[in-house]
Amino acid sequence: MTYVIAQPCVDIKDRACVDECPVDCIYEGARTLYINAEECVDCGACEPVCPTEAIFYEDDVPEEWADYTRANIDFFELQGLGSPGGARAAGVQDYDDPMIAALPPQNQD
Ligand code: SF4
Ligand code: SF4
Repeated sequence: MTYVIAQPCVDIKDRACVDECPVDCIYEGARTLYINAEECVDCGACEPVCPTEAIFYEDDVPEEWADYTRANIDFFELQGLGSPGGARAAGVQDYDDPMIAALPPQNQD
């Protein structure tokens, strides 16, 4: 199991969760962040600090955002990022899952 970042993070990316993660497994894409399911240790530390309530335990992702569970997995396969073992060293990726990349501007109000 893992945690998932859903729609409320898109175009926000304030990175509050990144500072809480003990294993540095929250990676940054162009428009949102993604949790690496292979590296996440299910500690739950990121979930309460998210100002937009974008982070959910995998079983608790709202139905309307179910595709974000897939997106958080596929992001790491799209361009071969895989599980590099550290988001800081990996840096910011210049792409997103295609579902997220195709969204109109989000969370701007
Ligand atoms: S649940 Fe813990 S290990 Fe997983 S992404 Fe959040 S802070 Fe990192
Ligand atoms: S704390 Fe929430 S809004 Fe901020 S980067 Fe993390 S998931 Fe996105």
